[in-house]
Amino acid sequence: MGANLGDAVGTLASACAWLSELPATTVHAVSGLYRTAPWQTQGPDFFNAVAAVDTRLTAPDLLHALLALELRAGRERPYRYAPRTLDLDLLLFGSACVDSVVLTVPHPRMWQRAFVVVPLSEVAPACVSTQALRAVQGQVIERLPGGWPVEGVTWGPQAG
Ligand code: AMP
Repeated sequence: MGANLGDAVGTLASACAWLSELPATTVHAVSGLYRTAPWQTQGPDFFNAVAAVDTRLTAPDLLHALLALELRAGRERPYRYAPRTLDLDLLLFGSACVDSVVLTVPHPRMWQRAFVVVPLSEVAPACVSTQALRAVQGQVIERLPGGWPVEGVTWGPQAG
């Protein structure tokens, strides 16, 4: 999850709630909140986090749901890498590999980005090797201390 327009942190918190409302889907864990300078784009700093969900949706249906949530947050796409109110990428789907016109899983650029790899290692450590963490260790990202500065999101494994 990423956002750098408007109330970015509030939008990410809303996104966590919206994910938990998807059919047949439970939010299993949410990473801490990270702040990073824009990557391949300009504008305000980004806030990023990774959520782990259990779902019985198919990968294409989950992608479809994520795109709908981006629209719900007012996402517009004036040009590639434009600042965004909400970006929801599907990083991994269990051990599945998907390569269709609309969906590629694992996400093709995820291992290049510290703001993905580091929070992913919090919620799914078995998916992130030491080499993967080492590969992004030169990138500057800041983990916001003290958890999420909004009500309603608890860092770490979610209750229930
Ligand atoms: P973006 O503008 O970066 O959010 O790209 C969104 C588009 O990328 C979607 O319309 C998807 O069809 C496509 N896409 C392909 N693979 C993925 C993925 N793993 N997660 C999210 N979007 C994906």
